[in-house]
Amino acid sequence: MNLLRINLILPTSLLLLSLSACQTTTSGGAVGAKRSQLMLISSDQLEQTATQSYAKMKKDAAAKGTLNQDHAMLLRVQAIAKRLEPQTAVFRADAPGWKWEVNVLGSKELNAFCMPGGKIMFYSGLINQLQLGDDEIAIVMGHEIAHALREHSREQVSQAIAAQAAIDLGSALLGLGSASSEVAGTVYEALIATKFSRTDESEADVIGLELTARSGYDPRAGVSLWKKMMQVSGGGHPPEFMSTHPAEQNRVEQIEALLPTVIPLYEKARTRQ
Ligand SMILES: [Zn+2]
Repeated sequence: MNLLRINLILPTSLLLLSLSACQTTTSGGAVGAKRSQLMLISSDQLEQTATQSYAKMKKDAAAKGTLNQDHAMLLRVQAIAKRLEPQTAVFRADAPGWKWEVNVLGSKELNAFCMPGGKIMFYSGLINQLQLGDDEIAIVMGHEIAHALREHSREQVSQAIAAQAAIDLGSALLGLGSASSEVAGTVYEALIATKFSRTDESEADVIGLELTARSGYDPRAGVSLWKKMMQVSGGGHPPEFMSTHPAEQNRVEQIEALLPTVIPLYEKARTRQ
């Protein structure tokens, strides 16, 4: 995965920078998302890597004949994305102007992601196997877009850099050699969104719910989506892309608790359509 390697400079004084590197990426919206985040690389750095990775993924899929095989499905997810994109302004003024892109990968995998800068990939297996309705697709897409808005990948890579810097600094102080970097691997994991923390997942759920509602898709689909995911996993854990922690019930409860906040946004959006 050489393509995914970012040139990272790890000064030993990095830890001293970390206090000034805390910021927040979004406005709070109706659901409130205000947590401060540690950011040690620029958005541009990660976005460049994401753009390259996304292009390579599309090229590889096209070569295998698995890119956008189902034209109707492609048009469907693109139409849903078109309604969600302008609503991102509630959380970030710059986001509606991102170079958004939506593609469908022919795959049995239950997966979807939105890379930094708005590069969305839906896996056909998710839509086909869970028989997703438009509202449910909007919930998944809103959730994935929320990860990009909050720049969870950038935060995750920053944490890896800080951890690596701490190891390097410790090694230097102890007179040991520099430890091998795990950062490149983290960049990959962070971009394809398989290993977010519970906090990140929770933020993506609530921001995604508001985006869904403001786009005129029924936020109650968040509950039916989770039920389907738990069913398909046969009572075990739902697909990894939306769950890295066994707290599904809490997440459904969090969605249900927010419904009174977001249903009025949904109803208002419906009257506009
Ligand atoms: Zn997620």
